[in-house]
Amino acid sequence: MKELTTCPICHEDSAFIETEGGWCVYVQCGHCGTHTAFHSFHGEEEKERAEEAVVRLWNMGKVIVESRTE
Ligand SMILES: [Zn+2]
Repeated sequence: MKELTTCPICHEDSAFIETEGGWCVYVQCGHCGTHTAFHSFHGEEEKERAEEAVVRLWNMGKVIVESRTE
């Protein structure tokens, strides 16, 4: 299991790794919708590396904040 830190934006512990359409992965906060950039992959081996890459991005706080209307 890969370690995901709490969300850098809302500080909730609800981040998860999402696989999109079987070709890219990203980490998203289930609470506020903040997410990392997408990493595409081809095959299981690359998927593993792509997951590690997005987990690193998330844990560094390199995230994309969903714009919300206040
Ligand atoms: Zn959040």
